Amino acid sequence: MNARPRVRVLLPLPLADAYDYRVPAGLEVVPGDIVLVPLGKREELGVVWDGAADPALPERKLRDIVGRLDAPAMTGSLRRFVDWVAQYTLSPPGAVLRMALSSPSALEPQPLQPGWTLAEPPEAARLTESRRRVLVLLAPGAVMAGTALAEAAGVSAGVVRGLADAGFLRPAPLPRGRAFAYPAPDHPGPALAEDQRAAAETLRASVAARGFAVTLLTGVTGSGKTEVYFEAVAEALRAGRQALVLLPEIALSAQWLDRFRARFGVAPALWHSELTSRTRRVTWRAVAEGEAKVLVGARSALFLPFPDLGLIVVDEEHETAFKQEEGVVYHARDMAVVRARLAAASCILVSATPSLETLTNAETGRYAHVHLAQRHGGAAMPDVAALDLRRHPPERGRFLSPPLIEAVAATFARGEQAMLFLNRRGYAPMTLCRTCGHRMQCPNCSTWLVEHRAQRRLQCHHCGHSEAPPETCPKCDAPHSLVPIGPGVERVLEEAIALWPDARRLVMASDTIPGPAAAAEAARAISAREVDLLIGTQIMAKGWHFPHLTLVGVVDADLGLAGGDLRAAERTIQLLHQVAGRAGRESARGSVLLQSFSPEHPVMQALVSGDLDGFMRAESAQRRPGHWPPFGRLAALIVSSEEERAADRTARDLGAAAPHGDGVQVLGPAPAPLALLRGRHRRRLLLKTRRDIAVQPLLREWLARVTVPNAVRVQVDVDPVGFL
Ligand code: ADP
Ligand code: ZN
Repeated sequence: MNARPRVRVLLPLPLADAYDYRVPAGLEVVPGDIVLVPLGKREELGVVWDGAADPALPERKLRDIVGRLDAPAMTGSLRRFVDWVAQYTLSPPGAVLRMALSSPSALEPQPLQPGWTLAEPPEAARLTESRRRVLVLLAPGAVMAGTALAEAAGVSAGVVRGLADAGFLRPAPLPRGRAFAYPAPDHPGPALAEDQRAAAETLRASVAARGFAVTLLTGVTGSGKTEVYFEAVAEALRAGRQALVLLPEIALSAQWLDRFRARFGVAPALWHSELTSRTRRVTWRAVAEGEAKVLVGARSALFLPFPDLGLIVVDEEHETAFKQEEGVVYHARDMAVVRARLAAASCILVSATPSLETLTNAETGRYAHVHLAQRHGGAAMPDVAALDLRRHPPERGRFLSPPLIEAVAATFARGEQAMLFLNRRGYAPMTLCRTCGHRMQCPNCSTWLVEHRAQRRLQCHHCGHSEAPPETCPKCDAPHSLVPIGPGVERVLEEAIALWPDARRLVMASDTIPGPAAAAEAARAISAREVDLLIGTQIMAKGWHFPHLTLVGVVDADLGLAGGDLRAAERTIQLLHQVAGRAGRESARGSVLLQSFSPEHPVMQALVSGDLDGFMRAESAQRRPGHWPPFGRLAALIVSSEEERAADRTARDLGAAAPHGDGVQVLGPAPAPLALLRGRHRRRLLLKTRRDIAVQPLLREWLARVTVPNAVRVQVDVDPVGFL
């Protein structure tokens, strides 16, 4: 007897590799087929993977595939992508596959609605009038639901059933309606200005070329980058291909969706974590069948099964929200470029403040670069000034300086809107005992508890721990001695209420704007001038277009600069420039005031002069000699355990086994800045190499030299973005 063929099947589980299975008689499978296989006592879904099964594996160790599912096969380009991400991030391929099979119910046969079709040509003579009325509705081959037939013919459901019993109708599945209408590439959108048209033309050409190319699209805030890349989306549609747009915060994208609808006539398909499981199933399936032509989503949308992807747009490419920090640790912007390459698609990275990584790729010619130099419609860029808090201190216990207060009042007097920006939720970031100096800290994390006065709670923003503020200091028992230190948005609101009791206020933070509907409503109220003063965190920084907003006050411009993060300055300038860009987007000139204790800092200077390019050049000159990214490579190991000694021991072992050599350096182990997080003790090591040295082989060999006990986890973070 001939041995049955064997294939490799990758399971969506964190296993080291694909498993071999036997193909039973009567079944034929090819790579990409979705199959059901036995695993232990269970049955699991898996994907027939590429590569040859191990011929040396004895027959008795092999089990048979149970069957193939009637689902669209996974494309070769998505399989290559899964393998690529797994090897780049040092994750088990099955853990990556799990992200690509994120809606298992979409793989099952999709339920079909029953309907009726003509069984044989009716003979008029034998028909009652009501039966005839039903039958004339059905053209040969057409299928209609029973209720629809009865309704259209104006007869009872019994008449339809009677026709079926008499053999005139037979059951047939209703054709599935389209889940998503096709966006119309030639639906009339806004007429582009001359420079916009030239930029759009370049992007369109890169899509029409049907090959891999990356283009960086930059332009000042309000220059119309979205309208311009919509033309690339239109070109992908004309070519019959699909387009994917990644947005950093899909829940806050109400205005973006309105504009998409205005340009293409219909809404795009959406993908994010808050979809219902039914919508996930329908969307996943529509993407796989090529029905969903344009999908806008969060980073996980990269793993959707597009059969013919022609374009990926990454909007706000510099955003750290694109980095997934848990499970498979990957950067969606970087992986978008890889996905585009494997799909022979065009990739457009969009930002007013691109990351140094992307800028460098544009400078070296790896990416093309298209720039829009002016705001659309002649709007001027806002005036930016730094407000020296040493010269203009706020009143005791207050946080707004007199010049900022005056500017807000003057804005209201002109009937315009103002915004106060502070990237901190809650009332106060720290609570301190005036008597003994004790600070209220999270029991599970090395962080201060943040006071949320409205809820009367002290909260940890890392683990969710929350407690009622104590009456007496937990350390020295002094009564009424705990005081709030520093401001959060709630405290700025309190100050604003005292200053401008009549102003209509709106606080925008992730806890006051919990979802897409709330965000859309907030945007509507602001545009309709139902609000005078906005107070908000970074969720207000990106994308929004508020025509009547002319003043932006940054309460603490120094906030992001503290801490030893490699990219602290870069990130601060990106965030503050985005925030500033909300001001004066239409005819009235906008102004921005930055409250700072160090107005001489290069970040403040660059924001004031508007010379962001110069700032990035200086940043680049600083990073280059030390081989810091993007001129070198980094990978972090985060060792964590509930037992502090176990974490220390493994960190020490890793330190002792660290790779070394020319262009290779290991920093640490050292306690992580968040040395305790959700009850786990954390230590960090950082591998730094020259750019021409790949970190993955070094990491693999390094990890293989150390035995990690069960109580300890070692998380690998290639190209770390956060250093906590
Ligand atoms: P950016 O993304 O560069 O900040 P947007 O694409 O958000 O800029 O455009 C800013 C505003 O200008 C939006 O309200 C947009 O609808 C409008 N706009 C841009 N280009 C045009 C155009 N050609 N015609 C009409 N409105 C435009
Ligand atoms: Zn905590």
